[in-house]
Amino acid sequence: MLSGKVALVTGGGRGIGRAIALTLAGYGADVAINYSGSKEAAEETAREIREMGRRVIAVWADISKEEACQELFSRVQQELGTVDILVNNAGITRDDLAVRMTEQEFDAVIDTNLKGTFFCMKLAGKQMMKKRSGRIISISSISGVRGNAGQMNYCAAKAGVIGMTKCLAKELAGRNVTVNAVAPGYIDTDMTAVLPEKVKEAVMAQIPLGRMGRPEDVAEAVAFLASEHAGYITGQVFLVDGGMGI
Ligand code: NDP
Repeated sequence: MLSGKVALVTGGGRGIGRAIALTLAGYGADVAINYSGSKEAAEETAREIREMGRRVIAVWADISKEEACQELFSRVQQELGTVDILVNNAGITRDDLAVRMTEQEFDAVIDTNLKGTFFCMKLAGKQMMKKRSGRIISISSISGVRGNAGQMNYCAAKAGVIGMTKCLAKELAGRNVTVNAVAPGYIDTDMTAVLPEKVKEAVMAQIPLGRMGRPEDVAEAVAFLASEHAGYITGQVFLVDGGMGI
């Protein structure tokens, strides 16, 4: 389904990003895995992809810095070719009630989740406009759709990702590039493992399908949007949330 395509997955070494990298490789794509702190996890994911017979590289870049993103895209271009599929997955949380949230907590989340996505969208957009084809898929969140107490920084960033997705979808549609967002609900990763038990129970009670999502649930939605089957879908937000957003 994706053979001959080059995919770049930011934060692709662990969590949802790792599942996306493995799933895209499973459908035939060559994959660039970006990481900022978890080198070993990124190299382990790369090893698994190499064993599948795909070309793969793991590249360090702190995506909150534009220069690092430029170097990331240059490395991918040199070693694998231009990016056909960009998955903006890297993200962090710094949860706190709005009245207590510091400027540092606010900025850290905006810098990685929103500005990092902007930098990568811009760099991929340039390559894809020239090629007149491409797929950009950004991982937003149900928090960016519905809001969530204790996450003003994160909600702002993830709602912003949806806004940028709709903007870029309009800007690139004429060049045959689709731009979509996937908004996961409550997915079993390191990010949610640290939540207090009381919070976990309250979230579980809001999931009609009655279970946490798996990273693979998100990855399959991303793979569909990356494929030729989704060629007529752009500017959309695809909720993968077990029904939480109903
Ligand atoms: P994890 O905390 O498990 O993984 C986060 C990933 O982001 C890691 O691979 C990490 O890489 C990477 N990352 C963080 N900061 C940077 C940075 N500055 N530059 C490059 N990479 C970075 O989170 P999840 O897998 O759960 O989350 C993945 C995405 O899905 C995020 O955008 C998150 O907001 C979103 N999401 C998650 C939900 C959930 O329930 N888990 C729900 C809704 C959305 P490294 O360790 O190398 O820094």
